Amino acid sequence: MEEQFYLPVRLLGGRDAVRRNAARFAALGKRCLLVTGRSSAEKSGALADVTAALEENAIAWEVFSGIGENPRLDDCERAAAQAIASGAEFVVGIGGGSPMDAAKAVAVLAANPGMDGASLYSSAPRKRALPLVLVGTTSGTGSEVSAVSVLTDASGRKRSIKGDDLYAAFAFGDAKYTFSMSRKETISTGLDAFCHAMEGYLSPKCGAVCGALAESCLPSLWEGLVSLYEGAELTESLHESLYDGSLVAGFVLNALGTSYPHPLGYILTERYGIPHGRACAVFAPSLLALALDRGCARAKRVTELLGVTTERFSEVFLALADCGGVSLTEEELQALRERLTGVKNYANVPGGFDEVQALALLRRLFGRKTRLLLVRHAESVGNDMAIFQGHIDCDVSENGKKQLDLLSIRLRNVRLDAIASSPLLRAVRSAEAINRFHQLPVEIYDDLIEIDGGDYNGTLWSELPARFPEQNDKWYHDPANFEAPHGDAMREVYERIWRGLLAVVRDHRGQTVCVVSHGSAIRCAVCRMLYGTIDRLGDTPWSDNTGFTTVDFTDDDTPCIVKLNDASHLTPETSSMAKQDWWNG
Ligand code: NAP
Ligand code: FE
Repeated sequence: MEEQFYLPVRLLGGRDAVRRNAARFAALGKRCLLVTGRSSAEKSGALADVTAALEENAIAWEVFSGIGENPRLDDCERAAAQAIASGAEFVVGIGGGSPMDAAKAVAVLAANPGMDGASLYSSAPRKRALPLVLVGTTSGTGSEVSAVSVLTDASGRKRSIKGDDLYAAFAFGDAKYTFSMSRKETISTGLDAFCHAMEGYLSPKCGAVCGALAESCLPSLWEGLVSLYEGAELTESLHESLYDGSLVAGFVLNALGTSYPHPLGYILTERYGIPHGRACAVFAPSLLALALDRGCARAKRVTELLGVTTERFSEVFLALADCGGVSLTEEELQALRERLTGVKNYANVPGGFDEVQALALLRRLFGRKTRLLLVRHAESVGNDMAIFQGHIDCDVSENGKKQLDLLSIRLRNVRLDAIASSPLLRAVRSAEAINRFHQLPVEIYDDLIEIDGGDYNGTLWSELPARFPEQNDKWYHDPANFEAPHGDAMREVYERIWRGLLAVVRDHRGQTVCVVSHGSAIRCAVCRMLYGTIDRLGDTPWSDNTGFTTVDFTDDDTPCIVKLNDASHLTPETSSMAKQDWWNG
């Protein structure tokens, strides 16, 4: 492995590192600018320690405060103007990644009067940045030890710069400054640190040095994150462990860069304001799974080091990342294509990555979903009479009314945007009952109708074997090829219900719709979603009356079953399936 590792930062760590090393400031000059966030420098105690150290050395200082999260170029320009005006000879960044990254940009701009923020991205020759001191207050970015600065440009896009003069002359790594972080900030920054280590560790460029560094911090970062997930108290030792891990992860990040979770995470931060660490972390489970799938030995090692399954890893990361509410339409996804093309970070993905895979991943995780609750109508008079109903228009039975009471209460607090129904009475009555707490118009879709039983319609189930022996046998043993005499073939129902469901989906993109249909029709739809072919209809479960299947459709009409045939609102007394066996043999 051709490995390169260069990290010329004097890291001064441990408790009270600033106080113990105050004399070091003297070598940097007589005036400086302190770049801070909104209040973290004060809250953490770092500002007080730094200003005391400066005063000890008779160094004059000014503060530029108010660097926001995801620091903007124009703020860096304003801070640089202040540095120039005050004759600052060095810059001190105090805070999380945002103020530290801003301080790096300020150090460059202040050394190059007349240079604008946008030129930071250019490779044109410029003077070396002013000397830089960094004091970290979060356990996340490791920006203290890196030559990377992530800045938000005038168009609102996060882009990073890197340069050897962005390394700090010295950096302070005193975990006590992170003690004032809230739980939320600790989670987000901890996730970021973990991603730095894992994204680098899985990179094909990762060699022995970064491998050892990542292996040393991944378990403790994971342990810290799991304890946060499980609600553990935010103790000083937890902060310390996360902070130490974040610095080691910062070494890995600096040497190897990041993989796809970071550039994809930037998009979520820019559009939805999701904090950096959480926005990247939501993509980490997919990266680990992809790497495992591609036989990456280091991915396997990650699971061994953490002692986790991919399922557990996903559970913890997705819960902590907490990116619910993000929803991208197909148009929005397509508009990102160019942005996702040719991203250099993809070189760090084992086996490679491209914009098509990035888009597919974004679609899978965040593509706008249209949710259907596919409800089988309540028990009807025809069910009671044990007749094959098909297109016979029966009302709901007394037990069916009880089922609907239970279902309507169950769905009372589910946000519904629409209710759609088959035209048959038992379905419409069920839709009306569900509507009790929603007051929506009930929309009729003819294609949601049940199989037309033809000569079967209205016949007692008990009479079917004698009257239609061949079709009766198919109904039970080869339902895909069932054809009702003078009625529908099952294959027609299979196509029709799907047309009906897609029509509902297209009319209600991005919404949640309750769709009331029938036993055979829903079974056909579920069969398509489970197996992709009607040939497996015999393996497809029936739904109880008022049972429902929840399905999410992406904008390209791909369904994903969230929950199948859920009838947990029914009691054994009200369940139709619990007491009937006439209709399925
Ligand atoms: P941050 O954006 O610097 O700060 C996040 C929040 O935490 C802010 O509200 C901040 O308040 C608060 N905070 C920070 N320290 C605190 C403390 N000790 N006590 C209480 N509150 C505190 O967070 P970050 O995650 O460290 O940095 C994220 C930025 O770094 C992103 O822009 C990201 O792209 C970048 N990044 C850089 C690198 C790199 O190598 N340079 C690597 C990864 C990410 P204040 O506003 O008061 O400060
Ligand atoms: Fe990061």
